[in-house]
Amino acid sequence: MLTSIATVSISGSLEAKIAAIAAAGYWGAEIMESDLVSCAATPRQINALLRSSGLVCTAYQPFRDFEGMTGALRARTFDRIERKFDITQELGSTRLLICSNVHPESVGDRERLVADFQELGERAARRGLQVGYEALAWGRHVWDHRDAWDIVRRADHPAIGLVLDSFHSFARKVPIESLRDINPAKICIVQLADAPQLYMDELSWSRHYRTMPGQGDFPLSDYVGTLQDIGYSGIYSLEIFNDRFRASDTGTVAIDGIRSLTFLQDQVARARRADVPAPRVTTRGIEFIEFAANDAEAPRLGRLLSTLGFALNGRHRRKAVTRWSQGGINIVINSEIEGFAHTHDMAHGASVCAIGLRVDDVPAALARAQALRINTYSQPVGTGEHAIPALRGVGGSLLYLVEAHNAADIWSSEFEPVTGVTAQSDAGLIDIDHVSQVMPFEDMLSWLLFYGALFDLHKTPLVEVADPRGLVQTQAMESPDRLLRIVLNASAAQQTLSSRFLDKYMGAGVQHLTFRSNDIFESAARMRELGVDLLPIPANYYHDLESRFALKPALVDKLAAAHILYDRDGSGEYFQYYTRAFDKRFFFEIVERRNYAGYAAANAPVRLAAQARFRTEP
Ligand code: MG
Ligand code: MG
Repeated sequence: MLTSIATVSISGSLEAKIAAIAAAGYWGAEIMESDLVSCAATPRQINALLRSSGLVCTAYQPFRDFEGMTGALRARTFDRIERKFDITQELGSTRLLICSNVHPESVGDRERLVADFQELGERAARRGLQVGYEALAWGRHVWDHRDAWDIVRRADHPAIGLVLDSFHSFARKVPIESLRDINPAKICIVQLADAPQLYMDELSWSRHYRTMPGQGDFPLSDYVGTLQDIGYSGIYSLEIFNDRFRASDTGTVAIDGIRSLTFLQDQVARARRADVPAPRVTTRGIEFIEFAANDAEAPRLGRLLSTLGFALNGRHRRKAVTRWSQGGINIVINSEIEGFAHTHDMAHGASVCAIGLRVDDVPAALARAQALRINTYSQPVGTGEHAIPALRGVGGSLLYLVEAHNAADIWSSEFEPVTGVTAQSDAGLIDIDHVSQVMPFEDMLSWLLFYGALFDLHKTPLVEVADPRGLVQTQAMESPDRLLRIVLNASAAQQTLSSRFLDKYMGAGVQHLTFRSNDIFESAARMRELGVDLLPIPANYYHDLESRFALKPALVDKLAAAHILYDRDGSGEYFQYYTRAFDKRFFFEIVERRNYAGYAAANAPVRLAAQARFRTEP
């Protein structure tokens, strides 16, 4: 795969874009006209910059409104394209890309269009250039790659080729099978873009919501697999118009592009060859959550955990680290005065600094992370300590990879047991249901790709929930066994709880941890005895609940008394309650699932409003 990316896909000046594209390791870059026009460097200088960066100028694009013009307009169009040929040559490229005409005065007569491309082919050939023709989803006469291919085929000129753009093909629902009718030798370039399935005009959809492969809903692996089947082995170029990427870090998005292409190639290989094992890392749930907390914060956090029924059951043999457990849940509080956790606490205050994930095969997981350009992390290991490999996760936190069959050894060799308190403090929590992370709005797709390309997680549909101060987008990534569920949250509005979290926390991180109980009323009663500080839910919510689900008044009273929220999906039922936030930063949620798979998005606005009521408190 010759990897390329259009400069429009990332933020920054053209020079900064080229530097980031080169650093990410692409073969080439498509220079977008809009980037060149606004750039102070001449095309020849850009050519020199590309060469010295080790990049090929994949193409110059786009030329608009070419084919089917008449009279004086036609003559002017041919003059105009000669000038673009000049620039293409100055840029050191051999390809100019043309989008199908949207001009109101253009004509659609097929013979005319073919003749235009034949004449253009002669002109391009004199320059040693190739022209690629692309059907825009909103083209006036040509908006389907089958028609563009028909024109290219009939023009039958060596300098005229076809541009395929997966967005346009999918947006117009052109069958993938139709790619099999195309002669691969005539494909000039394949542009790749994914997108969420939206119902809007194709132009706005394309200009604002394209994503990297794997971040949207289109079957990109079928598209590329089919092109591979017909023998296409040329350029794949990302052409991603996305408002978030325009506002994101240049280098991060460039690497995300390479990550998405690596992931895509994996998927194609897996789909085409039954003997290729699933390349993504199989997870086995969460072994531990690590909090960083200084000497003043750690006792308060310990007290909060006690009110949730956790017991202190281990102290690290050499470090200021404690282990708190309940059911299958392990929480570690790290109060070391140096090292990663300390740095994390200095930057963010007490909060989750690491997640320990159980995986079957740590070396395979690390190899895959490396292939995806995911950064690993290591810190000095003391004598008698296990070196647990880690990856850089959301907001600079760590994702430790723990061999699933080795986990018990780590605890027993590193922690001194603390006995005598476990039995009476238990509140019936079984395991971690989900981890909710908040990130900047611009970065959400990046983390979606990170989790989905590395681990065997699938994404659930994106949901928008109303905070009193704006909308929050939330999307879950889940493992097939649902032992790992990570919920990503982001908001474009400045004053939502999610956005204020980013401010207060100085970056992205874990906003809440959700624990599962098999008897939520029992857990709530036990925690009340232990002195838990719950988030109060208003009476209006319960009046509404009664009418919405026709619940028995006794059940509604019981829910209201314990501040438990309720949701139903078919025959599935969900119960949940929340603690007040620790230092107004992170909080805990307790849930009980009865055949219920979701996250009760309908209740989120009630929770957010309840939390917002505490906002003005000192
Ligand atoms: Mg395109
Ligand atoms: Mg939750």
